[in-house]
Amino acid sequence: MPTYPPSSSYIAGELGVGGGSELPVVDPSTGAVIWTYRADGSASVAAAIEAAADAYPDWSATTPAERSKALQTLETELEWIAEELAQTETAQTGKPIRLSREFDVPGSIDNVAFFAGAARHLEGKASGEYSADHTSTIRRESLGVIGSIAPWNYPLQMAVWKVLPAIAAGNTIVLKPAENTPLTTLMFAEACERAGIPAGVVNIVNGPGPETGQALISSPRIAMTSFTGSTAVGRQIASVAAGNGTRLHLELGGKAPFVVFDDADLDAAVRGAVAASLINTGQDCTAATRAYVHHSRFDEFVAGVAELMKKVRLGAPTDPETDQGPLVSFKQRDRVAAMVDRAIRDGATAVTGGRAPEGELAAGAYYEPTLLVGADQRSEIVQDETFGPVLVALPFDSDDEAIRLANDVPFGLAASAWTRDVFRAQTAARSLAAGTVWINDHIPIISEMPHGGMKSSGYGKDMSTYSFEEYTQVKHVMSDITAVAAKPWHQTIFANA
Ligand code: NAD
Repeated sequence: MPTYPPSSSYIAGELGVGGGSELPVVDPSTGAVIWTYRADGSASVAAAIEAAADAYPDWSATTPAERSKALQTLETELEWIAEELAQTETAQTGKPIRLSREFDVPGSIDNVAFFAGAARHLEGKASGEYSADHTSTIRRESLGVIGSIAPWNYPLQMAVWKVLPAIAAGNTIVLKPAENTPLTTLMFAEACERAGIPAGVVNIVNGPGPETGQALISSPRIAMTSFTGSTAVGRQIASVAAGNGTRLHLELGGKAPFVVFDDADLDAAVRGAVAASLINTGQDCTAATRAYVHHSRFDEFVAGVAELMKKVRLGAPTDPETDQGPLVSFKQRDRVAAMVDRAIRDGATAVTGGRAPEGELAAGAYYEPTLLVGADQRSEIVQDETFGPVLVALPFDSDDEAIRLANDVPFGLAASAWTRDVFRAQTAARSLAAGTVWINDHIPIISEMPHGGMKSSGYGKDMSTYSFEEYTQVKHVMSDITAVAAKPWHQTIFANA
């Protein structure tokens, strides 16, 4: 059993306890409370912002090499506690231990390693004489204190995606994880301290979004709000930011299409659809949710997906044999179940799944892998984010129709196209309105490449050097090189002087 952090906030290098209401952290596979904490109220949040503001002048003045060194040490510290992080992530989210060990934790550590290197590679336009009388220089500068809010689906990874580009670029940060999954973020903060990252550079506050989260993002001392979560909350946050004139970075919901053309390798598409729709029990913003399949391959695809979904083993998240754990909470499970029930009431059919399992697993927030057919393109199950282990399959007749239907939702985070035809693949890559398009795969991400949405999925990029553009601002310095008092352009203003 991992040792959970002794307290719930990390402010100015000190672990502390909030003064607000008591909140539980629940293992969703059993319903057992594994940890409780007191939420951080507005006083703790103000103290965290103060600590980040105090730490900013010194941290922003460190060299890229100094920041890089600190992040390399952080990578080593996280490697030391990788197994504890994996077990804790599994305990608080219910995700299978294989996923925590093979995806969440190594992916997070690789991201730290990437930013340790990237800290030394800020790119910019060449300095030079764009006017004959001046030298122009571009400075890429940090912003100040970042206020960040993260969701529960990949708690450690989301913390890393927020904190690393921010501090690598010289900012300081106050991060609020989701209220039900605070533990690995606190362990990450403790690792930052052991790595020698100065007090106040990384601060963590915990508590409910409408209280702790609002106190954070409403502060006029925040230079930028960086939010990952649902589109609905993202819009509320955008309106607060608009009032304060705060810079914004929004990574919001998704409803990824999975387009299977008639020439696709069907075995690959079937395996890809099951893996991409069920990863993290479907609680992945890029998960495949809508499979558009050419009508000539539709029945074969549906039969293949249903057969494979039935082989997915539901079980205890700690068991390495388990393929799919519970959803993150009973509330989330009930939300998904109600959405599927409404889809069936409105004419869809569950080819497999469509219910919570009975027996031993009934004590947890489980839901069976679900494949739906017969849903209408305009229905809720096709248009809205489900965030559960549910795939809807719909047939199409032509390539144009497939792309039109794939793009016909408010979201634009991710999409995939399955074809052996290089021209079709390129057309799909260009036409699909999404921040990531996979060809003959769906889900893999990599630290060097950006992740972020289009349309209602938000704007701004996580991971990759593109995220530096979010966490820095560009300054143009224009220096006179003539040393002449009467400059030629003065003629325009006072011609006779
Ligand atoms: P959520 O929007 O309910 O909550 C996200 C975070 O916002 C939590 O920390 C929560 O406490 C906080 N919050 C909630 N209400 C708030 C308010 N009024 N003011 C300030 N903060 C508030 O989302 P969730 O249910 O935790 O996470 C799932 C959502 O996150 C899905 O929509 C998913 O698509 C999205 N997500 C997106 C990405 C991406 O990169 N685009 C990645 C992961 C998750």
